[in-house]
Amino acid sequence: MLSEENFHLPLLPIRSAAKLLNISVHTLRMYEKEGLILPYKKESSHRLYSNSDIERLRCIRRAINESKISIAGIKTIYSMIPCYEIVNCSQTVRANCPAFKNHSKPCWNFNHTDNPCQSKDCRSCAVYQNYSECGKIKELIQDIIGQN
Ligand code: SF4
Repeated sequence: MLSEENFHLPLLPIRSAAKLLNISVHTLRMYEKEGLILPYKKESSHRLYSNSDIERLRCIRRAINESKISIAGIKTIYSMIPCYEIVNCSQTVRANCPAFKNHSKPCWNFNHTDNPCQSKDCRSCAVYQNYSECGKIKELIQDIIGQN
């Protein structure tokens, strides 16, 4: 069992990640371009993938291949993660956040210019990190419903 820290450690180069997932490097790059995944970028611009990234990608692959969900559909599911609750945004920040009312892409796909996310590293953010596994989003929604 990996520690939480090791789970998020960027280790695998893109070719190894693609091989592990049995997909092409092109497909991995396309998922990044679509904003489904934020791999760690080295200064050389080479990408590294963590075990957490691999779990996220497995979830994405299952959604596409087994549940027949499109990439647009997966982005919509990610957009439903209540980031504003997780990072505890004020009502004022919510009212002015471009991601708050949007339902077509995850918060980390937006260019945040005038709110606390402007200076954050999305890859290290709980919103991105904690919901890499398919079941976690459902658990989160159940928790929120249970609190209300
Ligand atoms: S830092 Fe990034 S992932 Fe976290 S809430 Fe802001 S936009 Fe979303």
